[in-house]
Amino acid sequence: MTLALDRTAVSAETAALPELPAVAGARLRVPLVSGDDIGYANLDHAASAPCLDAVRDAVDEFLPWYASVHRGAGFASQVSTKLYERTRDTIRRFVDARAGDTVIFTRNTTDSFNLLARAVPKNTSVVVFDTEHHAALLPWRGPNVHRIPLPGTRLAAVSAVDSALAACAEGPRLVVLTGASNVTGEVLPVAEIAAVARRRGARIALDAAQLSPHRGVSLRESDVDYVAFSGHKLYAPFGAGVLVGRADWLRAAQPYLAGGGASKVVSSADAGDVSVVWNHGPERHEAGSPNTVGVYALGVACEQLAANRAALEAHEHALLEKLRRGFESVPGLAELKLFEDAGDRVGTVSFVLDGFEPGRLAAVLSAEYGIGVRDGAFCAHIATRRLIGRTGVEAKQAVRVSIGLGTTEEHVDRLLLALRQIVARGA
Ligand code: PLP
Repeated sequence: MTLALDRTAVSAETAALPELPAVAGARLRVPLVSGDDIGYANLDHAASAPCLDAVRDAVDEFLPWYASVHRGAGFASQVSTKLYERTRDTIRRFVDARAGDTVIFTRNTTDSFNLLARAVPKNTSVVVFDTEHHAALLPWRGPNVHRIPLPGTRLAAVSAVDSALAACAEGPRLVVLTGASNVTGEVLPVAEIAAVARRRGARIALDAAQLSPHRGVSLRESDVDYVAFSGHKLYAPFGAGVLVGRADWLRAAQPYLAGGGASKVVSSADAGDVSVVWNHGPERHEAGSPNTVGVYALGVACEQLAANRAALEAHEHALLEKLRRGFESVPGLAELKLFEDAGDRVGTVSFVLDGFEPGRLAAVLSAEYGIGVRDGAFCAHIATRRLIGRTGVEAKQAVRVSIGLGTTEEHVDRLLLALRQIVARGA
């Protein structure tokens, strides 16, 4: 067994290296109809990002040793418990958490927001843009939920939150906000909205599912109260996500799931009932045997991304610029945009192509060019439809291209060539 139990964050020297972490999916080859095969151009990182080699190696090393956490004296159980609990610290560093913040492991971002929605005090007013991903839009219920339209500029978005909060009833308030749009890649003015929330006595929960793979998140600096993200968008396998943030509401809430791990003492009570003392720490909301391997993998991915941030951002920025410049040479292509004012954006772009049905276009890109993109309304139906409406192109859905660590210039060139060829032949 060579597993390094004292694995710590990747060192500062490593952070200075310009090389990008290797991605397993980058080596995949696609057999084409012609019998040739070409490297698969995965331009669908916003859906799920392929595992990093370093993550895969770490998981390989861990697989013979995983066991249930917090439940055994055996060596494997101790190893698992140690790595599981140490990952909380890794996540804490990854989001620059405050001292009192709690780190709860969930299945994914959707699970994290559903947990938070159950944990907020009953009379909480919630303000959320109706353009959010459904994971952030739908978990909130009741008359105090204000789903507001997203205005066309970042500046107006900040004012819209301010006005909505001013109109909220007395009591706790929560703003729910996406850090980067999964439709357009545009980054929202998180710190500005957090400042407005603070002035109005509200908390803010950040959906960082799309932001965290591309930008550092600092709870401390941005004054955000809660953040959620998913391992499978961060170059780790499926099945593990997190909710990080202020502990008080979470500690006071009923456990998200009832069961072992969440309960501290269970005893028989009168009339055949049971009495339960629930745990107060993060395990209160982690009932059942947790996804030890997934959590460990997520932690390793976070370490890798944090250590390579600058190289990663430079790589994605260069490819995004190339892609968007190239789009200008594709007749009839219209990009979807949330905001008129320019601002930061991550490597995700959606577009419609006049006269071409998105599902068919995506299928042709895959079958004939070995390019993987996504088509549809991206679990953000309101945003996608509204933004398509602004382009003037007749369409109900769009095509999304998303860049990641395994993306190369050749992938972008291939996509642009493919689009020009498809438009030229009109099919
Ligand atoms: N939020 C955003 C912005 C997303 O893009 C996604 C996934 O596409 C989610 C939330 C939900 O993530 P998950 O499916 O991992 O719960």
